[in-house]
Amino acid sequence: MIAVSEAKQHVTAQYTPMQVIELALAKSAGSYLAEDLVAPLSLPSFRQSAMDGYAIIHSEAKRLHVSGQVQAGDVTLPELHVGEAIRIFTGAPIPDAADTVVIQEHVTRDGDTITINQLPRPGANVRPVGEQISKDTVVLKKGHQINEASIGFMAGLGITEISVYAKPKVTILTTGNELQEPGTILKPNHIYESNGLMLQTVLRRLGIETIQLLKVSDTLEATTQAVTKALDQSDVLLVSGGISVGDFDFVQEAFEANAVKNHFYKVNQKPGKPLWFGTKGAKSVFGLPGNPASSLTCFYAYVLPHLRKRMGANHPFLNTRNAKLTSALKNPYGKTLFLKAGVTQDTITPYTGQASSMLNTYALSNALIIVPEEQELLNTGDWIQYMDLNF
Ligand code: AMP
Ligand code: MG
Repeated sequence: MIAVSEAKQHVTAQYTPMQVIELALAKSAGSYLAEDLVAPLSLPSFRQSAMDGYAIIHSEAKRLHVSGQVQAGDVTLPELHVGEAIRIFTGAPIPDAADTVVIQEHVTRDGDTITINQLPRPGANVRPVGEQISKDTVVLKKGHQINEASIGFMAGLGITEISVYAKPKVTILTTGNELQEPGTILKPNHIYESNGLMLQTVLRRLGIETIQLLKVSDTLEATTQAVTKALDQSDVLLVSGGISVGDFDFVQEAFEANAVKNHFYKVNQKPGKPLWFGTKGAKSVFGLPGNPASSLTCFYAYVLPHLRKRMGANHPFLNTRNAKLTSALKNPYGKTLFLKAGVTQDTITPYTGQASSMLNTYALSNALIIVPEEQELLNTGDWIQYMDLNF
C-alpha cells in the first residue's frame, strides 16, 4: 500500500504522451498545444485608430481643416498635412503623419473645419503596431489548453490549423454478475450498472470522444479475454470492480495474464483503497474499485490527472483550494480521506452519506475535502483543503 502523494506521483510520471496531430482550429477546443505558438504577425499589424474621431498632428492641434476621411478596411490612405485633420473611424489605419486621434465627442465641427475642445495626450487613441503581441514571439506555450478565447486569439492571427496532442481512445470495462443495464427489469438481487455511464460522462467532460463500454461476467477467462480485447482497441483501459480480494475478483489476475506492468496496487485512502494502476507499452490501465463513489473519487484523484498528462497538460491535477469547515471531522483511520462536500465562498460542508457505495450526496457535491492521513481531528472553523470539482 502506498500513500496518496506517491500514487499521484506515479500516475503523472508513468505515462506516454499521445501522438501529435494537426487539427483544424475550429475543432481544437479542449486540446492542449503540442508546441509553442509563434505569432505569424503582429497585432495590430498596422497603426490603428481605437476610436471614432479625427487623426491629427498633436503639435499642430488648433482649428483644423478636415481634408479627408479614412474608414476601417481602406487600403489607400489620404495624406495629412499641417493645419489638417482626417476624419477617422475605429479600426481604420492611421495616416502616416498623424500621431493622435481626438475623439469626436471632444470636437466641434463646422462644415469642413473642426475646433478641438479637449486635447488628449500625444499618441492618444492610436493602437501602435504590436501593442498586443509582436510577430515571431511565443504567444501561447506548449501545454496550453485551448478555450474559446484562445481560439478567437489564434483566428485573429490568421491560424487555421494547430499542432495538439490527440485525445486517447478509452475503454470502460465493467465487471460484476449482479449488474444489469438500466431500462431492463431487475432480477432478484441484481443492481443497475451505473459506473459505466458515470465514467463515460466525466471522460466526455475532459473532451474525450472515443469511448467504448464493455461488460464482462466474473470469470477469470472472460475477464482476461475482455482485457486483451480492450488493450487492443484503446489507449486507456478503465476496469470497474473486481479488483478487491474477494473470490470472484479476477481483474488483477487478468492484468497479469495480459502482461500489464503494475506501478501500484492499493492506496492508503478512504474511499478507493483497492486502486490498481499499470501500463503496457504506451497503454494505461486502471483497476477502479466497483463501489460507485470509490470509482469516481479515484477517477478525479488519479485517472483525470493521468489522462491530462497524456493529452499534454501542464497542470494535470484538479485545482485545490482552502475553506473553513462548518462542522468538526474525525479521522481515526490513519488514511487520507476524500469527503463529498459542498463549498460556498470560503466555507465547506461535509455531507452525510460518505460510504463508498453511496452517490446520493456525491450528486450534490462540488468539492471533495482532503483530510490528510495524519490529521485525526478537525474543528468547526478550521481551514481545510479541498479539490474543486468544477473544471
Ligand atoms: P467489487 O469492486 O466488484 O467488489 O464491487 C464492489 C461493490 O460495487 C459491489 O457492491 C458491486 O455490486 C458494486 N458495483 C460494482 N460495479 C458496479 C457498477 N458498474 N455499477 C454499480 N455498482 C457496481
Ligand atoms: Mg464485483
